[in-house]
Amino acid sequence: MGFISQFYPDNYADSTFLIDYEDLYKKGYRGIIYDIDNTLVEHGVPANQRAINHFKKLKELGFKVCLLSNNKEPRVASFASQVGGVNYIFDAHKPGIRSYKEAAKKMKLPLNQVVFIGDQIFTDVWGAKRAGIYNILVKPIHPKEEIQIVLKRKLEWIVLYFYQKTKIVEIIAILV
Ligand SMILES: [Mg+2]
Repeated sequence: MGFISQFYPDNYADSTFLIDYEDLYKKGYRGIIYDIDNTLVEHGVPANQRAINHFKKLKELGFKVCLLSNNKEPRVASFASQVGGVNYIFDAHKPGIRSYKEAAKKMKLPLNQVVFIGDQIFTDVWGAKRAGIYNILVKPIHPKEEIQIVLKRKLEWIVLYFYQKTKIVEIIAILV
């Protein structure tokens, strides 16, 4: 169980757009690091109106943001400008932890005021956890994926199976 629990996200949401950001702000978080592909939009597509509105809302709430993607510069830079010219790091080598710390530095925030949001356990979540950054796993936006991601998803199911079991045990413990 210890082996599997190292991959557990701190939290899990159905969508990036359904997270309670006001609550995160109240809890003291001031910066959000985002994966792009399948977290904010489908893989490889430009920012849509939903994403653009979302970044506007984050700004109004008072959040700083930084995009953190393993994708190439043209993809990441153009997305960053589409959502209002936000901070970004491309070719991030997630789950390596260096780029997560760099993202916090770009926002001029300590790690404990930063949240990471992404759709993959073995890149996004695992890196954020080891960097000491609170992380939220979201369901991928688009189910059609490249074969190497499909294989990773099968491994993710194993982790989520045990993770959700511990959540049920926690709920039962509260009830009894
Ligand atoms: Mg992704």
